Amino acid sequence: MNKNEIHVIYGSDSRKMTYEILEKIELIKELNVDMQIGIKPNLVVAKPAKEGATTSPSIVEGVIQYLQNHGCKNISIMEGSWVGDNTKRAFKVCGYEEIAKKYNVPLYDLKEDTSIVKKVRDLDLHVCKKPLQVDFLINIPVLKAHCQTLMTCALKNLKGCIPDKEKRRFHALGLTKPIGYLAKAIPMGLIIVDGMAGDLTFEEGGNPVQMDRVIVGKDPVLMDTYAASLLGYTKEDIEYIGVAENMGVGSSNLAMAKIQEYDAQLKKSSDFKPSNKVRYLTKKVIAQSACSACYGSLVHALQRLDERDLLQKIKKPIYIGQDFQGKELQGIGIGRCTSKCMQSVPGCPPTAADIIKELERN
Ligand code: SF4
Repeated sequence: MNKNEIHVIYGSDSRKMTYEILEKIELIKELNVDMQIGIKPNLVVAKPAKEGATTSPSIVEGVIQYLQNHGCKNISIMEGSWVGDNTKRAFKVCGYEEIAKKYNVPLYDLKEDTSIVKKVRDLDLHVCKKPLQVDFLINIPVLKAHCQTLMTCALKNLKGCIPDKEKRRFHALGLTKPIGYLAKAIPMGLIIVDGMAGDLTFEEGGNPVQMDRVIVGKDPVLMDTYAASLLGYTKEDIEYIGVAENMGVGSSNLAMAKIQEYDAQLKKSSDFKPSNKVRYLTKKVIAQSACSACYGSLVHALQRLDERDLLQKIKKPIYIGQDFQGKELQGIGIGRCTSKCMQSVPGCPPTAADIIKELERN
């Protein structure tokens, strides 16, 4: 798999999707069975994945099943929750203790790890030893918004690999620069983004938005640029992307990326159980048999517009869903199914960034 590739699989069974996508990219060709393989999920807080903050254990389970079925023996899971929470509690609450037992995979609380100093340009970064000792690190962040950096995904997830004291220093340094530098200090072999139901606005969860996808790639800069577009941001909005790119970590050139989507025809419509916030955002939305991947993109787009006080300026109805295929409607259509609408955003599903561009025209 090349560094400019992004692979996206849609669906509702994240364990199965993860297994399948690893088969498709033939990950095993890049490994040998004796390698030490580290899995770094996002367990920032001790809350189950359905709340939108943490990595679904089923994705990690899919990774372990794939690796073990291909003969890999030395797999471990490592994480250090944020300063205000206890990693061991997170392992338990988020379902990782169960997985560790079932597959005989050790869990490492990085808050208890020793650290070493890695010099990256003008910063001395204190980094936990465990993630540096593995031969192949699999970074499994959640695709979600963040109250300070706007978004958190592959680059920011590495913050769980530094001691608590260093996490406090990162905040004192304003986050952008040290996060941009961190990927230079901690090499990763693969990124698997949990895009099933990350949070709309907040890294701590509470407003999960169903997005029904797992995304795989190798370049954290490219993956974060793509992730930004899915949440309705530009790469310029997420400042640490530019910092990491300038450090030579990767490329933010999405136009040169090879994006491969799987199961695009198999996305299931789902019953939405909108929160009050989502209900408020989607007042003008008329949805009929909409895929959750599509609806999730729209919700993120509407949230971004609301943050800029542009939501109330949308006067036309917004149509989304498979039932609108072939229908000529006076309004704004979201996704390929609504291509006959007066205005329509292409894509199946479209990104929040593309939806915003169309809605801004009103
Ligand atoms: S365009 Fe239609 S089929 Fe495609 S994701 Fe949206 S609702 Fe589903």
